[in-house]
Formats: sequence, C-alpha cells, structure tokens
Amino acid sequence: MANIVVIGAGLGGLPAAYELHKLLGKDHKITVVSKAPKFIFTPSLPWVALGLSPLDKIQFDLAPVLEKQGISFISQAASYIAPVNQTVVTKDSQVLPYDHLVIATGPALNFAAVPGLGPEEGYTHSICTGPHALESAKAWEAFLQDPGPLIVGAAPGASCFGPAYEFVFLVDHELKKQKLRKKVDITFVTPEPYIGHMGIGGMANSRRLMEDAFSERGIKWLANAAIQEVTPTAIKMVGGQTLPYKYAMVMPSFLGPEVVRHSPDMGNAKGFVPVDKVWQHPQYPNIHPVGVITALAPVEETPIPIGTPKTGQMNESMALAVAHNIAVDLGVLKGKKATPTLSAICFADMGDQGIAFLADPVIPPRNKSYAAKGRWVHWVKMAFEHYFLQKMRAGVALPFYEELSLKMLGMEMTEALPEEKTELQEVKP
Ligand SMILES: Cc1cc2nc3c(=O)[nH]c(=O)nc-3n(C[C@H](O)[C@H](O)[C@H](O)COP(=O)(O)OP(=O)(O)OC[C@H]3O[C@@H](n4cnc5c(N)ncnc54)[C@H](O)[C@@H]3O)c2cc1C
Repeated sequence: MANIVVIGAGLGGLPAAYELHKLLGKDHKITVVSKAPKFIFTPSLPWVALGLSPLDKIQFDLAPVLEKQGISFISQAASYIAPVNQTVVTKDSQVLPYDHLVIATGPALNFAAVPGLGPEEGYTHSICTGPHALESAKAWEAFLQDPGPLIVGAAPGASCFGPAYEFVFLVDHELKKQKLRKKVDITFVTPEPYIGHMGIGGMANSRRLMEDAFSERGIKWLANAAIQEVTPTAIKMVGGQTLPYKYAMVMPSFLGPEVVRHSPDMGNAKGFVPVDKVWQHPQYPNIHPVGVITALAPVEETPIPIGTPKTGQMNESMALAVAHNIAVDLGVLKGKKATPTLSAICFADMGDQGIAFLADPVIPPRNKSYAAKGRWVHWVKMAFEHYFLQKMRAGVALPFYEELSLKMLGMEMTEALPEEKTELQEVKP
C-alpha cells in the first residue's frame, strides 16, 4: 500500500485528493493535510468583501466530507518537507511518511513587498482570504457612510489580476445601486502593460473589452504603473504621482508558502515548486506541485515585472494530470503519463453582467481564445459557485457531464504528452 500525502485542500488539493481516491481505490492510503479546517470557494470572495454573500455560504468543513470518502484528514499546517527521507512534518510535530507527495498550498501573500500594503500591517484591503474579505466588508460598510476616492488594483509582481477587475466592476455597480457613484472617483492601478493583459498577454479582444467597459463606467485607469508605498490616506506611485483614497483594495504579489521556502531543494528563490513535463519535481519525481504553488515562467517580459496567473480550472487540470500520473507510477493505470492542458473558462462578474473568457491553453500560443460580455455571465458565475461547492461536497473532481461539456467545447483537462511538447521552464530567481 502506498502512502499519498496531499498538502492543501483548496481548488487544487481537494480535486487532486478526490481523483486519487477514484483512481487508486482502497488499496492505497490518501491523507489530506490542511492548515484551514474548511474548504473555501475563493472565486466568490469578492462578493463576501462587498457584503453580497455570507462567508459561510461558500465554505464547508473538510473533516466530515473527507471522512465519508475514506480519505484521512489532518487539520494542521505542514511546516517542513524532507524530500530525501520522504516525510512531511506538521506544525504539531506529526511526521507523515509518503511515497508520493502533492503540494497544493496556494501562495503566501507578499504584502511586505510594498510598505503600507495589506490589511494586517498596512492600510489597503484584501479579498484573498476569508478573514480578509470579512474585514473588507466591514470597511466597505463604513466607506458607504463616508464615501470618497476609491482605488482598486494590483501591486508590482502580482500575477492574479482577475479578482481586481471583478472587484472594480462590482464596486462600480454597488455604488450605482446605492446612488453614491457620483461621489466616488474610481481609479484602477495595475503593473500590467495595458488593462486586459491579465499576465498572459491578453486573451482574444480582452484589451478592447476592458478599455470599453472602464470608459463606459467612468473608471479611470493607470496601466504600467507601480505602487511604491501606501500611507493611511494616499497611494504613492513610482514616478511621483500620489493618489488619495478613502478605500483601497490591492492584490499583492505572491510568494511560495513557508513550508516550501523552509524545506531543502523544494522551490525556486520565490518558493514556487518547479515541474517537468509530467508535473513532477525535476529532482524528486514523487513530488508533484498543483495550483498556484507551481513555478511557471512569465509569459513575456513586461516593463514592470508581473507573474503568470493560475486560475481555478488550470489548477484542476494539474490535479487530474498528477493523480493520473501517480496511478501510472503505482501500476494502477497502464499507458502514457499525462500533462495538464492548462485550458480555462473564467467568468468575471460585473454586478448585472459579466465577461466570460475561454482560453485553450491559458498560456500562449493558443489553439483558441474567446472573450464575451453579457448578462448571462452574471448568472452563470452564481450557478458555478453552487455547482463547484456541490461537487466538492460530493467528493468528485470531474463528473462525466462536466468532462462531456468541456469536450463539446473542444477542451480537455489533460492530454497524453506529445513527444514534441516543449519543456516547461521554472521561474528563474
Ligand atoms: C479573490 C479571488 C478570486 C478569484 N476568482 C477566480 C475566478 O473567478 N476564477 C478562477 O478560475 N480563479 C479565480 N481565482 C484563482 C483561484 O482561486 C486560485 O487559482 C485557486 O484558489 C488556487 O488553488 P490552490 O489549490 O493553489 O490554492 P488555494 O485554493 O488557496 O488552497 C490552498 C490550500 O492549502 C492550505 N494550506 C496553505 N498552507 C498550508 C500549509 N502550510 N499546510 C497545509 N495546508 C496549507 C489552505 O488552507 C488551503 O486549503 C481567484 C483568486 C482570488 C484570490
């Protein structure tokens, strides 16, 4: 019996554990180790941060759900990985031996990179975690009582831009609903070379769509812009411009988590874990990163450095490929190993409408890409939250009808590795 340990139970880790369970059955032991006792559907946090959804609606306790599936669960942070001994040490000093290790912890939020950034030691709000979103919701309530200039954006080095776009549109929509929009000057600040770039060189007509949507709504933007420092009342940009604000939400840059940064030979200088073609650590093939923790090179050099986003569906495709490859290694599946396609469909809510993006794959060159705006996106986004939470509660990574629907759109989550496929490169420090 092999021991498979999965660190992290988010959008990458939980599907990985479910798919491993489906493929390996009861002959092998799967243990999920998670710092947080709950699964949280991160894409809905912008709604929580504006008081539009309670946090409890988008999270659930992991212990009973995993127990029902026959998957062991340890509600503890992993603090150290010893790749030579093949053990994970938890914060409460449990030592967990593994034959295969899946690391899916998500990122560490690098607020410290910009003085004054972030809700803990700084002045800007965040929608990256449940507690952050709750704190943002309180501040939003106070802001509505005393409105003024508002800034939404991303810090230099950021890679996750989608939530900032979604948040700025939602803020605009909410202010209109409250009849306060005329009292609020909204500015979007981003290190992307242009709005709609998203860290991937844009997608279909995303630049045009964003510029039109911002202009129609009277949202000002500063692209190619680096935040230097945040004070309690203003954001200072590199180059000297000062933007006063009463409310600001800024996406930080990401680092790999401490458990990777503190473990030998595990990650690159920023703590992201490198992968080869079949999503194995190049030095330790029985270690597999899934999700934001994976080191992917920036898509292109930009005047202000930015990272490559890893969206929910990309993470699911990594999870499925990793589970497949572990099953091949253990002799449970015959045939070729798989690589994730890194294709994605994303929905950005704008309050009463939204923008849908389809990219196959997300990282260029692409076979297809598509971006469209419409009222239907708002409804699809709400339905998707319900669908995703249901399948995570039910212990299924990819139901057959989802797989079929993707196939009808000409998309797959994984593919057998074609010989000529270019090797993925890790991010250089
Ligand atoms: C506000 C916001 C909105 C987003 N909206 C969208 C969207 O609309 N569509 C989309 O496709 N993507 C969206 N994303 C991106 C998507 O949420 C992420 O890509 C995804 O959550 C990353 O999955 P992950 O498994 O890498 O990390 P996470 O989902 O963050 O999960 C990390 C897990 O690891 C656990 N953990 C952390 N450290 C440790 C440790 N040391 N030991 C044990 N466990 C640990 C955590 O408790 C958690 O269970 C959004 C992201 C944010 C922040």
